[in-house]
Amino acid sequence: MSNFTPTPFTVPVYDLMHRSGEMREHELDITVPEAFGNALIGIPEGASMHVDVRLEALHDGILVSADVQTLAKGECGRCLDEIELPVEVDIQELFAYSVDEAFDYTVVEDHIDLEPSVRDAVVLSLPFQPVCRPDCPGLDPETGERLADFPDRKPKEIVDPRWSALAGFQSSESDVAGEAAGDADRAEREKRS
Ligand SMILES: [Zn+2]
Repeated sequence: MSNFTPTPFTVPVYDLMHRSGEMREHELDITVPEAFGNALIGIPEGASMHVDVRLEALHDGILVSADVQTLAKGECGRCLDEIELPVEVDIQELFAYSVDEAFDYTVVEDHIDLEPSVRDAVVLSLPFQPVCRPDCPGLDPETGERLADFPDRKPKEIVDPRWSALAGFQSSESDVAGEAAGDADRAEREKRS
């Protein structure tokens, strides 16, 4: 009984089997059937993936070289903004004609299945701490707001003590102005009554 089912990642190799020295090239345009990746970034279901495949018949099996291009989506590990990251990885595997402990993969029913090696290579290439840009300032630890939205807000650690003294002076000055305005209001109301 055969339990082989073709998928978007399977490639027929019956025309190469046991013909050492022959070579074929395929281009696969795959719609990723199931999302994969790490906690913060990955390839979503339905993403487009382009795979240039080169197959070479060797004595023991089919040597597969592939160039994989796709687009990862996820969120910045600092500010949680959505990010997209182009991914390009190369893989090379030998698919043995017969089950052999020396090789991870085997030709099954005259087909090779690229999915496990493509997934492994793409996941390995993804960053564990993706960022929207290398200098992303992240979130304000007190308010949770995105600091990139407030370019004038300086992190507290680098406030110069001379500036904080001036800030104190400015706020006391506006307090005085506020009191003066309050007095004017009161005077106005008293005039009307
Ligand atoms: Zn960010």
